[in-house]
Parts: sequence; C-alpha cells; structure tokens
Amino acid sequence: MLLYHDQIKKRSAVNIDIEDRAYQFGDGVYEVIRIYNKKPFYLDAHLDRFVRSSTAIKIELPYPIQQLKQLLLQLIEQAQLETGNIYLQISRGVAPRSHAFPGTIQPVVIAYPQNTNRPISALNEGVCAITTPDIRWLRCDIKSLNLLGACLAKQEAIEREAQEAILIRDGYVTEGSSTNIFVVHNQTLYTHPANHLILNGVTRSIVLNLADKLCISTKESAISEDALESAEECFMTSTNMEICPIVQINDKKVGTGRPGIMAKQLQEAFEHLIGK
Ligand code: PLP
Repeated sequence: MLLYHDQIKKRSAVNIDIEDRAYQFGDGVYEVIRIYNKKPFYLDAHLDRFVRSSTAIKIELPYPIQQLKQLLLQLIEQAQLETGNIYLQISRGVAPRSHAFPGTIQPVVIAYPQNTNRPISALNEGVCAITTPDIRWLRCDIKSLNLLGACLAKQEAIEREAQEAILIRDGYVTEGSSTNIFVVHNQTLYTHPANHLILNGVTRSIVLNLADKLCISTKESAISEDALESAEECFMTSTNMEICPIVQINDKKVGTGRPGIMAKQLQEAFEHLIGK
C-alpha cells in the first residue's frame, strides 16, 4: 500500500512519470517517520519540518497538512505496520525538462511504509565512523531529495568498513551523512548549532531535551576536528539509528572504545519515550 496524491493505492497501481522533477532534478523534499508499536513517533515534528522544507523551495502542499496527517495515519493502519518507518516525499510535479520552475503544476505526494527493525546490536555495541570533507551545498537545513553528497560520503564509509561518515567543513564537525553528531568533551555534550549547515534532526531535538532533563550540560556549538580526536564520547542520532554510540573514528578508539555513559543514559530515557 502507498499514498499517492490523496489516495491510498496498491503499489502496482501507481505510475511515476519520467518527467517528474524529483527524478530529473531532485526537485522535492522528504521525511522519514519512525513507527513504534503501530504509532508514528513525533509525527507533528516531522510534518512541521516537511512544511518548512517545502516552503523553502517554494513547493506548496496540494492540500492541508492536517489532511496529510490523517492520510498517513490511515496508511499506517491499512499497512498494519508494527515497527518500521514511513517514507514521505513531495516533488514539484511533472513538466517537460527545463531547469526553471514550470507554470502551475500539481505537486506529486507519495508515502509508503517500510518494515524495518530497530538497530539493536548497533545501539548496544556502537559503530565505527570515518571523517570526510563536507562537500554538500549551503542549505543542509532543507531535507532535500538531492542526496548525492550524502551518498558519496556514506559509500566512502562503507568502503572503509565503517557505518557512518562524519562530515568536516572548514575544520569543524557539521553532522553525519544521514545523522546528527554529538560529542562529549570535558563532560559537556556538544552538537552543531541548527543553522544552514546541518539538518535539524527530530532526534537531535529530542536528545537536547532529554539531556536537559538529565542535567547533562549541553552546548550547541561546532566542535573542531582536533577536539573530536580527543572526545570522551561520540554518538550519532537519527530517526532510524536513534541514539547510536560511535566507538571508533578513523581507526582510533573513542574513549575506552565502548559505548559511553552519557549515550547509555540518553538511550535509556529515549526507550521510555518510545514506550509511552
Ligand atoms: N542529518 C542528516 C543529513 C540526515 O539525513 C538525517 C536524517 O535523515 C538527520 C540528520 C537526522 O534527522 P532525524 O533525527 O530527523 O531523522
């Protein structure tokens, strides 16, 4: 089952046009929304960001956001999705190929469910990461379909037998290829400020809130590549990876080489949220 425009249909009943601008220009935005126990997790925060991203690239939703919310809830129900995610995308629409925006066209909305389990072993054991230059554009705050910079970085990580690439711009950590990065230095939790150089993750905001509740001192301030090397702890956050410890960066252990205390504390608090 999937959502196409404002209807829930079988996948086989949907045809995507070869002149859809998502396909030719990456001209659209998207969201990935986690489903736990048949319920969407922080759906409103994802839909707010979806509206912010589409407004930033001048795509107007074809119907009210409340209607989209109802359709997504229907899709989750009909798909009987227990644990997984919903991929949601809007493209500017279909028009003969030309860079400038066409006149009035109908945006194309699609959403479909995916069955994916929680990454339990990565959460418990941690993962390895590499660092690589951040070659992406200067509007990383928009959740754009243009993901080539992220794909190249992730592929480099995989080829170097790591799971994530930590991106470095002008000597500072921005974020991961598909995650936000947190670093513990002198008992303070650092993450890049939510500006045009990163995607302001829904999980990132949850973690900053949980840290406050746990009286962990936080700073939204970019950390240098040098400081990253001497980090006491490092972890990445995203809808799919939750709060995942990074235990090795570029062949060097982070701290003891085991998931850190702050990551564990935050993971525990996060589990409570999921259970609610
Ligand atoms: N940063 C980037 C570049 C991402 O692609 C993602 C998720 O896809 C995130 C951060 C994490 O965002 P969220 O926690 O909303 O999934």
